Parts: sequence; structure tokens; C-alpha cells
Amino acid sequence: MSDITAPAYRVIPIIPALKPGAMEGKGPFVASEKINEAIGFPGNLVDDWHDKAIAKMGELLSKYRSLKVYMDACVHCGACSDKCHYFIGTQDPKNMPVARQDLMRSVYRRYFTLPGKLFPKLVGARDLTREVLDEWYNYFNQCSECRRCSVFCPYGIDTAEVTMAAREILDSIGYGQKYSNEIIGKVHKIGNNLGLPGPALIDTLEGLEEDVKEDTGIDVKFPIDVKGAEVLLITPSADFFAEPHIDSLIGYAKVFHATGTSWTLSSMASEAGNFGMFIGNYEQLRKIALRIREAALELGVKRIVVGECGHAWRVAYSFWNTLSGVGDGASEVDRFAQMLQKQLDHRYKQPTHICEFTWDAIERNALTFDKAKNDKHIITFHDSCNVARGSRMGDFAGGQFEIPRNIIKAVANNFVEMDPNTTRERTFCCGGGGGLLTDDLLEIRVKGALPRMEALNQAKEEHGVNFMATICAICKAQFTKVLPIYGFDRRVVGGVHQLVSNAIILGDKK
Ligand code: SF4
Ligand code: SF4
Repeated sequence: MSDITAPAYRVIPIIPALKPGAMEGKGPFVASEKINEAIGFPGNLVDDWHDKAIAKMGELLSKYRSLKVYMDACVHCGACSDKCHYFIGTQDPKNMPVARQDLMRSVYRRYFTLPGKLFPKLVGARDLTREVLDEWYNYFNQCSECRRCSVFCPYGIDTAEVTMAAREILDSIGYGQKYSNEIIGKVHKIGNNLGLPGPALIDTLEGLEEDVKEDTGIDVKFPIDVKGAEVLLITPSADFFAEPHIDSLIGYAKVFHATGTSWTLSSMASEAGNFGMFIGNYEQLRKIALRIREAALELGVKRIVVGECGHAWRVAYSFWNTLSGVGDGASEVDRFAQMLQKQLDHRYKQPTHICEFTWDAIERNALTFDKAKNDKHIITFHDSCNVARGSRMGDFAGGQFEIPRNIIKAVANNFVEMDPNTTRERTFCCGGGGGLLTDDLLEIRVKGALPRMEALNQAKEEHGVNFMATICAICKAQFTKVLPIYGFDRRVVGGVHQLVSNAIILGDKK
């Protein structure tokens, strides 16, 4: 950690000079036998890994038409090449999105196209050797699946999907990544990414009730496992104990209190995050999502609200309906999905993002604020990649950009935007998404944060920005770690509901 320094800010952000091999061999720790086997993957690299990897690739190509299109459609125009924060920060050409895709495309050509089978050298086709496999492991674990590159690709090629497919192939032959697979194991075994057991969770929530009472004089509840509550809140487990995450949890609780909403958390589904998406594995994705359905059915709730977590909202918004029956389009042959469909109240969006919930309450005049309570902050907003490019909010295009900003403006007086090339659909990943939020990847995390840190620094210089709000647990954790390396105070990052919590006036419902 101590020998990792931040790259210098660029005066004019231009295409960086290439440093071939700069990030070679700097991938994450490989998952141990115990970690892999606990979630049903081969413990170690299997003997017949080559044949199994090619067979798995064939299976994915026939299952996901998009993957085959991505393999065939690229014309190497280069429009995406300088759009990845990891390339910008590391200058390693293999971190260019097109080069990352080509790691797989070259193997695809060799085994799945006629020219590649007949004239491999002419079409850039490569055998899947151990060296190529190691390259896959290294560079597909240096992509946060943020989809920024796809915004700039004229064909809409989504490198995130290629990365997910590569990771799925790697897991299928026993060559998975430690961090993500270990976390998935904890969710299956204990219920959340942090491995926080139910009693510890209850203790934490009781402590929070006391803190809020001391602070405000009001009995704001943090209920858990309450049958018959209207709302089930599914939130990232970091909200229960990490800073600044916990301040947003307090904000959600205050909003529920002020709107008179009966709500509950669940000890069974005490995690919004779903790392099954990061490793591209449908079975893991579904198994994790099913915990939420089970909790919702057991507690008999009418609504499911999701807390501040970027990739969790993407999974909830885009996939929960078919995975678990939350939202429209549940499988007709899935009895439990049908039960949940009947149970949930369809006057509301299912699922609802906590920002949608709060903004709706603000629009109904159900909340009052003292905006001056946030006057010490000059605030900007970091769009989290999975919310920005993988989901929506509200009933209008771009709601995922406007609703969090509308909330900030309703609860605070000082808001400014960062460089438009780094916000909304063009936002840069924090540098720690997609299963990269681990200390064994600190170098790429620090370097990948460069474009966001440059934009934040510019906003600080020009407008005095001293608070960057976000609605993602990974962004909060990543920035808390890298901000000091770039010379900022770690408390510059915080949640949108942290600002809500500061300004909300309790006991003054209209
Ligand atoms: S990290 Fe984001 S921008 Fe970079 S290759 Fe992956 S999806 Fe594209
Ligand atoms: S922008 Fe699209 S077509 Fe052009 S090089 Fe990148 S992935 Fe290929």
C-alpha cells in the first residue's frame, strides 16, 4: 500500500503514451480450493482445462447471442481505446477495451471460425495456451465491467459482457478470483458479503437506534425480521457498519420514520450486493437473488426497496423479475415467483430504489428539510456506473441521473456538476467496481481512479467542492481508500441519504 502513489493529474487529458506490460502479472489473488469448492466450482485448475474452456466458450456463444455478435462485429475503429479508466491510469495497452476483447476474440477466431481454423496467423487467431489463459486471468480481472467503453462504440459492443464470459469460463475450470468467490461463499453461508451474523446485525441496529435518539431526541427504529411490515429494505451490508455508508442507512430510516412507513430489514437477506453478476455466473446470481424472495415471502411485505448500491440496483432493476419474481415478467412456471407477484402491491414500482422512494415523498410534500444543515458542503455528484449505464429510475429517460440530483438540491443549497465528460452516461467508474475492491488490486484501483480524481480536483479548484455524493457502496469504499492517496480527506465522499439525514426535520410531517 505505502509504495503505491497516485499518477500525476494530466494538464489536458489526452490519450496516454503506451507502457506495454505495465500491469502484467498484477491480477488478483487466485481463489483457493476451499473457496472454489464451497460455491460448487472445481477447486483448482483442472487437468483438461483447455478442452473444458473451449467447450464452455462454445456453450456461452450459443447461449448468449450478444457475445457472438461482440466477437464478430468489432471493426477495430479504436473509438473505445482511450475510454477505459484502467487504460488511462495504467497506460497498459492491454487495458484498452478493444485489446481486452481481443484476448477472447483471438481464441474465438481460432476455434469457432473457418478462417481462424485454416489460416490462424492471417486473422489474428491464437491457440488457447497456458500463457493466453494467464493473460485472460490477469486482464479480465482488471475490468470493472463499467460499460463506459460501450457508450463510445459505434456497434454498442459491451466489453463488460466479454469480461463476464471470460470470468465464467475461468471459474468453470477452477481458475477463479479469490475476492469475488470468497464473498459469494459468505452470502450463501451467512447471508451477507461481510459475513456478519444475525445477532451482530441486531446489536448494530440497536446501537444505531440509541445513537439517533441521542442525536435527535426521536425514536427512529431500525427494525429487523418484522413480519407484516410494508417495506422490505434490501441494502448493502456495508451500510450496517462502514463509514460513510452507515450515515445513509440512518438517512433511509429517518425517511421511513418521517413518512410513517412500516419497514423492516431481513437477517436472511442482509445483502443487496450480488457478486454473481461480477463473475458472470447465472446460477450464483439467481441463488443470491432467491434469498431476497425467500425473505420477502416469509415476512409478507408489500414493497421491496433497495438501498444505495450500484450493481445491486442493476441486478434488481434489470434481472430480479426473471431471477426471483420481483417486478413484471416473472416465470409462469415458477410457483414462488407467482406467489410473490400476488403478494407485492403493484401500485408501486417493484423494486423501488431508495432514491425513488425519497424523491416521491419530497414531491408529495411529505418531508421537510433544513437545507442550511448541509451548508458546510459544496456538493457534487458521482454517477455510479451500474446505475448510470445499467438501470433506470423513475418514469422518464435519464431518471437515474436526475432523481439523485433532485434529492441533493432539495436537501442542500450548494450543488455543482463535474466535467460533463465524466458524468451521467459518460461517468467514469470509481476504479473499484466489478469485483476489484480488494487490497491485492490496490495498484489498479488507485490508477483507475485517476479520471474521477482529476474531475473532482477540477471541481474543487473551480468551485471549492468538498463533498462528492454517490449512491453506491463500492464507490464509497473505493473512494474512502483512494481519496487520501490523491491528497483529499477521505470524508469527501458520502451518500445522498447522508445529506438527507443531515437536513431532514423529524416529527414535522405535513
Ligand atoms: S473497465 Fe469499463 S471501460 Fe474498461 S474495458 Fe471494462 S467495461 Fe470497458
Ligand atoms: S469502438 Fe467498438 S468497433 Fe471500435 S474498436 Fe472499440 S469495440 Fe471495436
